[in-house]
Amino acid sequence: DIGNLPAMLERTALRFPDRTALHFMGQKCTYRQLWQDVRRFAAALQQQGVQPGDRVSIMLPNCPQFVVAFYGASLAGAVVVNTSPLYVAPELTHQLLDSGSETLVILDSFYPRFEADRVPGVKRVIVTGVQDALPFPKNLLYPLRERMQGHAATPPSGERVHQMQALIHAQPTGVQPRTVPLAPDTLALLQYTGGTTGTPKGAMLTHGNLIANTVQASAWMPDLQMGQEVLLAAIPFFHVYGMTTAMNMGVLIGATVVLVPNPRDIKMLLTLVQSMKPTLFPGVPTMYGAINAHPDTPRYDLTSIRACISGSAPLPHETARRFREITRGANLVEGYGLTEASPVTHCNPVTGEQQLGSIGLPVPGVYAYVAAPDGTPLPNGEAGELYVSGPNVMAGYWQRDEESRATLPVRAGRTWLRTGDVAVMSDDGFFRIVDRQKDVIIAGGFNIYPREVEEVLYAHPAVQEAAAIGVPHPHRGETVKVFVVFRPGMQASQNELESWCRERLSPYKVPKLYEVRSELPKSAVGKVLRRALADQERAAPK
Ligand code: ATP
Repeated sequence: DIGNLPAMLERTALRFPDRTALHFMGQKCTYRQLWQDVRRFAAALQQQGVQPGDRVSIMLPNCPQFVVAFYGASLAGAVVVNTSPLYVAPELTHQLLDSGSETLVILDSFYPRFEADRVPGVKRVIVTGVQDALPFPKNLLYPLRERMQGHAATPPSGERVHQMQALIHAQPTGVQPRTVPLAPDTLALLQYTGGTTGTPKGAMLTHGNLIANTVQASAWMPDLQMGQEVLLAAIPFFHVYGMTTAMNMGVLIGATVVLVPNPRDIKMLLTLVQSMKPTLFPGVPTMYGAINAHPDTPRYDLTSIRACISGSAPLPHETARRFREITRGANLVEGYGLTEASPVTHCNPVTGEQQLGSIGLPVPGVYAYVAAPDGTPLPNGEAGELYVSGPNVMAGYWQRDEESRATLPVRAGRTWLRTGDVAVMSDDGFFRIVDRQKDVIIAGGFNIYPREVEEVLYAHPAVQEAAAIGVPHPHRGETVKVFVVFRPGMQASQNELESWCRERLSPYKVPKLYEVRSELPKSAVGKVLRRALADQERAAPK
């Protein structure tokens, strides 16, 4: 019964006013200060003419301004639109136009790439520099320092460009923004996602959806100490996975949230873990894998970490085992979710029985079943599309009624979300993801799930990362091609990999084509992008 997101922050600020809310590269602020800045930013947006229901896009890495912009825009009654800093200009333009955003909050060093104030309909661009939240200790700043120093001399300017810090400081500290009613079904966030069709569209997530999922995810964590946890926020807030399990979860439980602007800098991550002693560390498999593989890892003390939810992609067994070893027993458990569900729907129990290779059980309040193509439930043990339902499931796709109806069918009096993933449920209620429906490779009439092939390669001692895709074949329709990244200092020949696969897979699943890469394309959350590999393959000269 928290009602809305700003109310959740206010509650924590009243309960733990002096607790450090955010820690960013040596700078910190308390929950009292955070709530004050959120109110000032909300008032500033209202003064700028932002009306309830207006869309406010945010393009920031994890930094204090992200949290202020998100909660401030929400308090002003606006709908936040998350945008990825990895976007190129046409992607941002599409999203600004599609969402009808009149306001964009953007890091000053990202600004020159876009000059988004020229996009039709955009009335104001609010820029902020991470240096506004400095000082950075010198050794920790890479690589943002270089980028930002380049722009410090020429701050973006223009009729529609405003400085976030100036807007906030123009408001008195005790300012009360105009009250806007925010109900649980009020829209809070548009999170763009490909969904099952691939065209980017905005999943409409309400205050109720986001709060429900934050509560559901935290209910799954054992022995959470209100006002005492330290949460390492390495996954980006501009994806709903990081927003829920790092930012909003931190706020709900009054944690100190340690902000990591660049999670690819593993050395920085290790330094932060050792110095800040986080207890909770939600992440993605590639992140845990990169920490495992880093040569400096054994020199750092990572034993403060108690619980980690890994989501967004399958967690290879070996990654989980090794991470538990280097943290001396952190509970790293695999969960599952998707943007349209805010996103967490399943997770292995953090304490108690876990099933390796499974995504666990539905989190409290989530219903789930495995469906035949006509939507009827399949018996346990049979593979079919995973359907889920619960208070965390989106209201629909922004201005796409037809796709919303197709994705959210009503059955037996409930609205269900079709996930587009193939799953199996066991007799004891644990679910296993077989693969994505759309990534299935069809070779000579057989269905091949790329994940099965990848798991075999991951088990090879020299392989750090692997991805399998289908490439056109004149007689078989498609054939399997794999891309592998070797562990530092290790390698294997194609013959060796092929016989490794031959011993472990039926002949039709054995990859015929192998390509070694130094890295694999990944999404902003660190998920290996099979789609990008398939695009590269199509574009490559034959
Ligand atoms: P985009 O939004 O860019 O299209 P996406 O399709 O990956 O990306 P997300 O909502 O970010 O969309 O991710 C959800 C998907 O991630 C799920 O549908 C599922 O395929 C995959 N996924 C998440 N967790 C797991 C897991 N533990 N195991 C296997 N797959 C997972």
